Amino acid sequence: MANIVQLLPDNIANQIAAGEVIQRPASVVKELLENAVDADATEIDLIVKDAGKTLIRVIDNGSGMSDEDARMALERHATSKIRSSDDLFSIKTMGFRGEALASIASISHVEIKTKERSNDLGSQVLVEGSEVKKQEPTQTKNGTSIAVKNLFYNVPARRKFLKSDQVELRHIIDEFERVALPNPHIKFTFHHNDNELFHLDPGSFRQRVVAVFGKKFRERLVPVEQKTNILDLRGFVGKPESARKTRGEQFFFVNGRFIKSHYLHHAISEAMEELIPKGYHPSYFIELQVEPDFIDVNIHPTKTEIKFEDERAIYAIVSSSVRQAIGQYNITPTIDFEQETSFDGPSSNKPVTPPQIKVDTSYNPFEENKQFGGKPGSDRKKFSGSEASKAMQRENYEKLFRANPEMAKWTAQHLDQEDETPEETQQQSFEVEEKEQHKMPCIQLHKKYILSTIKSGAVLIHQSRAHERILFERFTEFLANNPASSQQSLFPQQVQFSAQDATLVEELSDELKMLGFELSGFGKTTFVVQGMPDYAVNQDPQELLETVLENYKNNLQELKLDKQEAFARSLAQRTAIIGGKELSRDEMLVLIEELFACSNPYTTPGGRPIIHTFTIKEFDKLFN
Ligand code: ADP
Ligand code: MG
Repeated sequence: MANIVQLLPDNIANQIAAGEVIQRPASVVKELLENAVDADATEIDLIVKDAGKTLIRVIDNGSGMSDEDARMALERHATSKIRSSDDLFSIKTMGFRGEALASIASISHVEIKTKERSNDLGSQVLVEGSEVKKQEPTQTKNGTSIAVKNLFYNVPARRKFLKSDQVELRHIIDEFERVALPNPHIKFTFHHNDNELFHLDPGSFRQRVVAVFGKKFRERLVPVEQKTNILDLRGFVGKPESARKTRGEQFFFVNGRFIKSHYLHHAISEAMEELIPKGYHPSYFIELQVEPDFIDVNIHPTKTEIKFEDERAIYAIVSSSVRQAIGQYNITPTIDFEQETSFDGPSSNKPVTPPQIKVDTSYNPFEENKQFGGKPGSDRKKFSGSEASKAMQRENYEKLFRANPEMAKWTAQHLDQEDETPEETQQQSFEVEEKEQHKMPCIQLHKKYILSTIKSGAVLIHQSRAHERILFERFTEFLANNPASSQQSLFPQQVQFSAQDATLVEELSDELKMLGFELSGFGKTTFVVQGMPDYAVNQDPQELLETVLENYKNNLQELKLDKQEAFARSLAQRTAIIGGKELSRDEMLVLIEELFACSNPYTTPGGRPIIHTFTIKEFDKLFN
């Protein structure tokens, strides 16, 4: 039999890779800007036409490339940033996978003009769909200019999925801000259809924030600063009174790179919780400098997610630094935050000692309680196993069920740990009121709510929303690094979709796989379901997938969510238990436990409340 296995032609391999890295014009903007930053540019101009659909051009005055490099840069896995696998652990640049330019070149028309300072002549390269059409010496400035035209010209399905210019431009602005903010030493300009949207002169981080978001921020920023042996933190949080109803400006940068972290977001929200009314969101601009080998940025192709070596310690430092900063601001509101000196010289602010609370950091309220564990059918280990989530679980649980105000501040203790041996910390163990947990009453109301008591009164939990939150966080974990297991179907079932939905299924093929769906037959409108995820084995795949796709389209369109979040949300919405299901006491306890293992047990991913608490005082008032 003839051999039938063949290597994919390069241009196809590149197009496949492009699907991962380049989702929309904004992805191109991100990659080109990051390359310019990596090339040590001090001036970067971004020029965009028709929200990037016709042209994206980035001009920098950085290192430039030699003739040879200009051509090599377009090859897949061509990078100047890593030479050996050891380098992987000490990455200081934004890019390093060598995928971006090759991917972009496979789905657009690219023109590169570049010149190294030491050369008199530069070079020009023209590429169309991975094919080099022309390369010749040319007169050009020091640095690099890359123009990307007609994006997705050869991938009509992608082009069709692009949103209105308005929406695509908003994504581009997001990416631009994410690169411009952590690089205040670089001058940036940004033109869209001949309008200058941004003109950012070099300056301090604070000046950059104000230049990007407007003068109103001048009065709003409270500096946060903390140096520890594992990281340096600096940045600003918005004053509590400037919190807004819409999720505003919230930025984390790690080693100069924008990252998304629900976990660290929670650290800040938690620190500011008591100062900000419910439903309002703090703004923050926080930059962490961490030793590169302390993090792993390689887990996501677009690198907006990150894994820290010791997440829990970072949580503690972030939360406590914000507390301190806000505390200081509240104590001495006359401090002049306008002074740039807060970062540029030694801090003149008096250090505030964090509260000294001793807690047993290894304490887990569920450990001794068999009733919570080992429930058949519950795979709680999977998502309450990590150190980080344990810390979170304890904290959330403590806050509500034990109402110990000191517990909420346990984070501060971490900063104090240096002069303490671990044994000493262990000894100061936190008193567990074990009996209370065994007796915890749990009543299901109208097969819809769970009522339980807490120290200060009672708590009412919306059961289906609680389940939605739990599933959403579990799915997010599956998507990030820990694929769901899947059960092979004995009798694979066929599912059929409209042409548009079928392209969606194709687009989401990676996500579906990570979430435990095994489909085959891509490229057509009929798919064969070879396997279903554990959590949905008994469901009708056709109905399930149709509903999830429908939710997904809505989530993607109406809310500005990224693909993965939109999909995790949609699946959670569909697979959550609905009201009307009777739950046993054990099931209720597991639900409560799992809810409090979530990073945010209080609202659904869509922001609807899950928990209401009632104080005894409120009850007393009813009988007055
Ligand atoms: P990566 O950034 O992951 O290395 P890219 O595909 O983004 O991969 O870029 C490939 C290579 O092209 C880079 O490693 C760099 O050497 C070179 N390069 C890309 N853009 C520029 C630029 N603006 N200035 C100088 N060199 C660049
Ligand atoms: Mg790059």
